[in-house]
Amino acid sequence: MIRVTENLNQVRKRLQNAARVAGREPSDIKLLAVSKRHSVASIEAVAEAGQQDFGENFVAEGLGKIEALAARKLCWHFIGAIQSNKTRDIAAHYDWVHTVDRLKIARRLSEQRPEDRPPLELCLQVNVDDEPQKAGVRPAEVAELAEQVARLPGLRLRGLMCLPRVRSDPEAQREPFAALRQLLEALQAQHAALDTLSMGMTGDLEAAVLEGATIVRVGTAIFGPRD
Ligand SMILES: *Cc1c(COP(=O)(O)O)cnc(C)c1O
Repeated sequence: MIRVTENLNQVRKRLQNAARVAGREPSDIKLLAVSKRHSVASIEAVAEAGQQDFGENFVAEGLGKIEALAARKLCWHFIGAIQSNKTRDIAAHYDWVHTVDRLKIARRLSEQRPEDRPPLELCLQVNVDDEPQKAGVRPAEVAELAEQVARLPGLRLRGLMCLPRVRSDPEAQREPFAALRQLLEALQAQHAALDTLSMGMTGDLEAAVLEGATIVRVGTAIFGPRD
């Protein structure tokens, strides 16, 4: 447990350094601790060190943790693949969802968001490298999807998310992140309130911060390897 606190401090340092190199304010970059396949006890240790935002990939696994840790008032982000039959639980229990890539899912989340909860904060997942078989809306179709999602009640469209192909060269890794930033900038002409780029993980958070990430999603560097 001491280990995760140390790890968290190291990640915060990496973020501060990356922000400094990029000429950005560290406070403009939110750290999302990705806790999938890690225990409630590990999450508690990280929360105890002041971490507020946690990300989960599997709906049921996340729900158990949200319930177990309800007293801590943490902020929960859903970052996994979304099946239609899971939207109700996401709408009811999460604060953010990063992985919406089709209108049907957005409509269900909109209809199912409970009225006593604030709008669900939402990012569209973009298949930024246009890879076959990969989740995410194609770059050419982002604008149209954003247009439709922005109109749905119960949701607040915040920006874009990507999970790019890993490049061996850190400099080349900036390319997909720059592409996502440019897509967001194009959308901002119509939707000035969009403010979120969810990009960068343990291996590439520096490249993402250089290209404007406002949320980095970090699992391994905080919690250690997943089994
Ligand atoms: C697991 C996961 C992460 C965290 O990855 P690490 O390499 O462990 O930091 C980030 N984003 C998504 C969508 C993930 O599934």
